[in-house]
Amino acid sequence: MDEEIYRIELFRIRWPQGFSCVHCRCTRYYPISGRDQYECAGCGRQFSVTGGTFMHKSRLPLRTWFEAVALYNADPHISAAEFARKLELTKPTAWLLQKKIRLGLKNTEGRTILAKMSAYLK
Ligand SMILES: [Zn+2]
Repeated sequence: MDEEIYRIELFRIRWPQGFSCVHCRCTRYYPISGRDQYECAGCGRQFSVTGGTFMHKSRLPLRTWFEAVALYNADPHISAAEFARKLELTKPTAWLLQKKIRLGLKNTEGRTILAKMSAYLK
């Protein structure tokens, strides 16, 4: 599965009833070509599927995020070293990823996103 498939899935996860801009409530948007971003048709603000979530501004592929979330859900006490090995990441990156997932679990929206991401890979 490539990155685009994960992006489409994450879009569905974040806006299950369809996109609605947090700034102007507009429901129309355009993809920005060549970038993993969209532009609101109403106010022109740009957004991404990860913006405002625990994955905000991450440079890791979404595929890695989905796999990490599933792994974490299966074993929340997994060590950073094991996490790094299974995801083929460096230990500091794996540690940061775990930290961000834990941060995501602290709010309702984050928990919903995490649960749906985890379910997607099953
Ligand atoms: Zn807008």
